[in-house]
Amino acid sequence: MELRKDPITRSWVITGDDVPESSPRAESFCGFCPNSPAPAQVISTSPGSDGFPWSAQAVVHPTPLYHIEGEPGRRGDGLYDRMRSIGAHELLVENPRHDGHLWNASDSEVEQFLRLAAQRIQDLKRDQRFKYISIFKNHGSNAGQEFEHPTSQLTATTFVPRRVLYELRAGRDYFEQKERCVFCDILSQEERQGVRMLETRGDYIALCPYAPRVPYESWVIPRTHESSFERTAARPGTLRDLGILLRRTLQRIRTVTEEFHLVLHTSPNSTYRSESLGYWKTIDEDYHWHIEILPILGAKARSYTFKEVYYSPLTSETAVKRLRDAKIDA
Ligand SMILES: [Zn+2]
Ligand SMILES: [Zn+2]
Ligand SMILES: [Zn+2]
Repeated sequence: MELRKDPITRSWVITGDDVPESSPRAESFCGFCPNSPAPAQVISTSPGSDGFPWSAQAVVHPTPLYHIEGEPGRRGDGLYDRMRSIGAHELLVENPRHDGHLWNASDSEVEQFLRLAAQRIQDLKRDQRFKYISIFKNHGSNAGQEFEHPTSQLTATTFVPRRVLYELRAGRDYFEQKERCVFCDILSQEERQGVRMLETRGDYIALCPYAPRVPYESWVIPRTHESSFERTAARPGTLRDLGILLRRTLQRIRTVTEEFHLVLHTSPNSTYRSESLGYWKTIDEDYHWHIEILPILGAKARSYTFKEVYYSPLTSETAVKRLRDAKIDA
């Protein structure tokens, strides 16, 4: 596997003919449940409760896309750029229970999972090779879910993923013109208008974005400006409200579809600042972390337009009404 840069969009792709086998092994046990006969290699563990040895756990991905050892060895190839697929690929086991999902776990379980996610990001940002730490979850076969046990994925990469790069550039451009954070401005307009607001909980807001990429797209975002999820997570008490709002938002979405992608967008690794990249300079003022949830409505999605022009046969104003009225239990 190697990384190649698209010279036009300046985004990196991972490619290669030696694709790791990711077909689920037909084993009779789960490698992520406590006391598994063949446990995954543990990286970090959150303290357990209710008789469980741990509450959330980071483990090495059994078939990683990125490998931790070595240098990226970035080099030119005419006008092209390539590098080795150096990075980290971990699984964040969300709960010791095989059916302990983010939408049915307890407040403290979701909080522990979020805390572990923040700790892993913070830890990996100490490695100056890594420019970005992504945390995402694919749920459902159409989303590319790999394991039955509730897990999210973490990748640490030597580049900033494309969508985040677009957001960073857009955030910087908006800030250059207005000296304000575009996300803070979105939040204050949405709170004022009230037509796309899903729910608020403590300092967190769930909303359906003005220009959705898919029906029922939802964001969870802190009202207080902060570019880095890990810094917010370090403030006492704040992850509980986030966990509760995340659980309730997922419950709402699950009344429409069981399948979704979830991704955390936080600031890149600015511990080692790049001189050439302009978006690093005002990043703490112009970027604002958030969680995006992209539900998958299989039959209704017109996949041919998905990658070029996003097509959503439902406005956010209609989507938010249905999600607000959804019957949820916690
Ligand atoms: Zn399991
Ligand atoms: Zn902001
Ligand atoms: Zn985003």
